[in-house]
Formats: sequence, C-alpha cells, structure tokens
Amino acid sequence: MAELPIELNGVADALACDKGFWRSCTGCHELNEGVPTGPFSDVMKCHLGMGCFECGGIGAVWDMTDYAEMGRYLALETPIAFGLMAQGHIPAVEAALAEGADWQEIGRRIGWDGDTAKAYYERHVATEPKGVDHG
Ligand SMILES: [Zn+2]
Repeated sequence: MAELPIELNGVADALACDKGFWRSCTGCHELNEGVPTGPFSDVMKCHLGMGCFECGGIGAVWDMTDYAEMGRYLALETPIAFGLMAQGHIPAVEAALAEGADWQEIGRRIGWDGDTAKAYYERHVATEPKGVDHG
C-alpha cells in the first residue's frame, strides 16, 4: 500500500467506522450531466473538487448525516401526504367509490379517518397526470 500523506492517516479508519463518509465538495466540485468531473480519491472514496474555502482546499467534505435516520424522520413527518399512494390504498378507495360507498365507509375499510382519506384522495386525483385531457 502506498504511503499516505500524514494528513490522511486516519481517513480509512474513519470511513471504516461507518459514521460518515467523504462526499465531493459542492463548492468546488461540479457534476457534468450527473457525472463527476473531479479525480476519484481511493483514500476518501469520492471525487475531489479543485479545493475552495468550503472544504479547506481538500475538494471533499466529511458528511456525518445519518441518511437512514433522516429517511425515517421524513417518513414520520409526511406519512399522510404520501400515505394513500404509498400504502397502496388507491385501488381500494376507487373500488369502494365505484360501489358507491361513502367516505366514512371507505375510511373504515382502509383504516383511515374518512375525511382525511377524502382530502388526500382528492389531492391525489388533482395531482395525477390524466394524459387524455388534451382534447
Ligand atoms: Zn471545495
């Protein structure tokens, strides 16, 4: 294994801890149509920018964001906004509507509050691309 500059001695160990990772510095590294433009660092396991004040000239920044935790947090924050769709209730709702069920009944079937289900179903319908309405 090649000799590392003394500044990088702990990098591999830090990466191995799995508490964070190096990511390309947004200040000095650019993507070209989604493809990194900088050289790839085998030590830091990311592409490097040219260096700027954001990264202190390294071209990469240490990211300790716990993305798994963030994902759980976001899921908790917005369970309802995407709930009907995410929980796969749309077909059940539409089937119930086709049967003429009211929203209280629909709510009971999918385990939702009826009014909430109605509100989110209407939002879903409003945001769903129709595709055939360009007549
Ligand atoms: Zn930078």
